[in-house]
Amino acid sequence: MKRILQNSCISLLAASLVVSCRVRIQTGSEFEFIIPSAQVETREAPSRTEIVAPTQVVMLGTGTPIPDAFRAGSSIAVVHKGESYLFDVGSGAIRQATIARYKHDIPSLYPSQICCVFLSHLHIDHTMDLSELAHTLWWRRQVGLRAWGPIGIDRIVNGLDEIIAADAEFRINGIQPVANPEGFRIEHQTIEPGILLQQGDLSIEAFIVNHGDIDPAYGFKVTTDDLSLVISGDTTYSEVIAEKAQGVDLLFHEVISRQGLEQNSPGFQRYHNSVHTTSDELARLATIAQPKKLVLYHGLFYGTEESTVLNEIQALYDGEVVLANDLDVFTAN
Ligand SMILES: [Zn+2]
Ligand SMILES: [Zn+2]
Repeated sequence: MKRILQNSCISLLAASLVVSCRVRIQTGSEFEFIIPSAQVETREAPSRTEIVAPTQVVMLGTGTPIPDAFRAGSSIAVVHKGESYLFDVGSGAIRQATIARYKHDIPSLYPSQICCVFLSHLHIDHTMDLSELAHTLWWRRQVGLRAWGPIGIDRIVNGLDEIIAADAEFRINGIQPVANPEGFRIEHQTIEPGILLQQGDLSIEAFIVNHGDIDPAYGFKVTTDDLSLVISGDTTYSEVIAEKAQGVDLLFHEVISRQGLEQNSPGFQRYHNSVHTTSDELARLATIAQPKKLVLYHGLFYGTEESTVLNEIQALYDGEVVLANDLDVFTAN
């Protein structure tokens, strides 16, 4: 399905410093919201409203390595008690976080307020915006970004330290106020399977999935007081996901259209078969796991209509299934 994005952002009176954006999507859905222009946001702690809000899952990027005007690179935010925990951070995801912050009124999605990111694996479509996330307004960060990733994350963080070095020297040694001279640093940890973070009623667990020769690659299970979810990351059919996703509220799973796969050269068919999950395999997995809702993301369509992959799954699976778009929000209900 082709979609036309008609962006009619109109600058209002300069003094009001707001931009009104109407974004029309041809599918019939239409939304309108007000985005403040270039607003600096800082906060000491989450507000009471944020703390009592239900857990939300915000799709910051539902795309793949293939450039897509409508889908940023892979990134899913779990928003719980006033903090945002990102799972992957592909190209464009932080731009989407800025939009989501205002569209859905979620202060913890303001880029320099995002506390944590978990990288499923080190393919670039899952990591490209790490610098954007860690370094946007770093001089206003009280605490640097926390990141968890597979073995190799230290190479990425060391590289990002070089990328930011000149900027950091200028700002720290100049007259600009800097909240924390270490605010640009990424506090990183190498993932081992098991519980990565346990904070009150929030639990984040990593488990190994099969992404072919990209090893290790992780999926994640997140549970809170009101929501359970599994994020597949990039993976071929992995029994462990069926097990971890047993009866969860939400299963976010990557997918490649069976019909789309067949448009590929033999070499790419072989590659995709060993690293991604075809629609029929995912239908089989969901039939075993029985999540309350199956959410497709990181869809590889290869020239087929986006609806094709959904139809392929619905033909083989009776449960509820949706194809996520960027900026969609999911909750327990
Ligand atoms: Zn990917
Ligand atoms: Zn990958």
